[in-house]
Amino acid sequence: MSKPKVVVLGAGYAGLVATRRLTQKLSAEEAEIVLINKHNYHYESTWLHEVAAGTINPNQARFMLTDAVNPKRVRLIYDTVIEVNRDEQRVILDNSEVSYDYLVFALGFVSNTFGIPGMDEHAFAITDIDSSRHIAEHIEYQFAQYSTDENKNDDQLTILVGGGGFTGIEFVGELADKVPELCQKYDIDRSKARIINVEAAPSILPVFDDDLVSYAKKALEDRGVEFRIGAPIKECTEEGFIVGDDKELIKAGTVVWTGGVTGNPVLAKSGYELFKGKVNVGPDLRPEGEENVFILGDCSWTLDQETGRPYPPTGQLATQEGAQVAENIAALIRNQPIQEFVYSNKGTVASLGLSDGIGNVLNGNKLRGKAAAAMKKVVDDRSLFLVGGPKVLLKKGKFRPF
Ligand code: FAD
Ligand code: NAD
Repeated sequence: MSKPKVVVLGAGYAGLVATRRLTQKLSAEEAEIVLINKHNYHYESTWLHEVAAGTINPNQARFMLTDAVNPKRVRLIYDTVIEVNRDEQRVILDNSEVSYDYLVFALGFVSNTFGIPGMDEHAFAITDIDSSRHIAEHIEYQFAQYSTDENKNDDQLTILVGGGGFTGIEFVGELADKVPELCQKYDIDRSKARIINVEAAPSILPVFDDDLVSYAKKALEDRGVEFRIGAPIKECTEEGFIVGDDKELIKAGTVVWTGGVTGNPVLAKSGYELFKGKVNVGPDLRPEGEENVFILGDCSWTLDQETGRPYPPTGQLATQEGAQVAENIAALIRNQPIQEFVYSNKGTVASLGLSDGIGNVLNGNKLRGKAAAAMKKVVDDRSLFLVGGPKVLLKKGKFRPF
């Protein structure tokens, strides 16, 4: 009998960790492993706000897949997944097709604009390396063009960020570091460049306690970030956002939407029933009725068994799910019982630029300032180690040993 084929879709946190763990758990005689990803590299989605602001080089946030998995053990296919034919157990790619015995569906997130008119057409979104690098280049272009323009329009220097969740706040934190640098480079008065964050809810970062939120807001305001809170964005035009019931237009040269994410549209094309863009999975991370398919990370809703509510989609969750699914696929191949997924929350840290941040860490301890910023780098490097291994950590890690 031919050996079972395990196909992993997506080399993000969930997919790459699952692949690496599968190679450790299963011998080459026990299973064939295939990893399919759009690019020949993995990127750290959790660092994309830094790429988008231009505070790190895009290459620091990515590494080649061959640095993390042995291509002699894992068949690497660099192609785009179009859909999964679940009846025939085949994955349809842009350029070919691949059959599977076990499938790990880990294609991550896309931006969710909730049907806000004009948002898809006129706003940038931070979704991958290319889109994030594009934002950084666009911002720099606005500053460069302004500096040589005879009829200067100060709105060109405004950067408007829609959404004050984690991504929006971490992004404006990076911009607060980057904008003074751009002003200096292009001989622009710092007071002319504005960074405006627009949030519909009564508060930014509602996950944190009020004292940490107040700290973050004041720290960012002190570095020149303006907030419009309780201000729902109704529309996005070529000029900027239209906000609130009185339809105020806030003009900007750069408009970025960070108002939410949802699961990869390949789920819908593959015929899954979706709840807010994702698939509900059971405690073993399989969708109902499918014994050989696992849906992970930002593509699925994993319920907290204690509260009955889904966990927020994070890299931390995706990484742990990837590891558990590899164990379970190895168990299934060996006809052993599988384990339910149990999430272990290691805490949450939000950066506010290079040297500031806020966080809730283990045992309810709160962090702010430089301690939180340092902790964020520890978290980033831990993630890099789990996804890529020690060689990748040494090459791309944020804490440099030398
Ligand atoms: P991803 O990591 O998004 O990986 C999906 C992979 O699939 C990618 O390699 C992609 O190229 C590939 N792919 C997509 N579509 C296709 C296709 N059709 N065909 C082939 N390949 C495809 N979480 C935290 O825990 N901590 C943080 O500090 C944090 N910071 C964040 C900062 C930002 C700016 C953003 C946007 C998110 C952040 N998150 C953070 C959330 C975290 O990044 C996501 O929850 C996590 O990336 C989900 O992992 P995943 O494996 O499901 O998908
Ligand atoms: P989010 O859904 O967490 O936040 C989006 C924000 O946009 C919300 O505050 C929402 O009220 C606001 N918003 C939505 N519609 C709006 C409108 N019309 N007008 C104005 N504001 C509007 O999305 P995110 O920040 O992209 O985060 C996505 C996921 O990634 C979350 O689960 C988050 O936990 C995770 N993440 C974690 C970190 C971290 O741990 N440091 C960093 C980034 C992202």
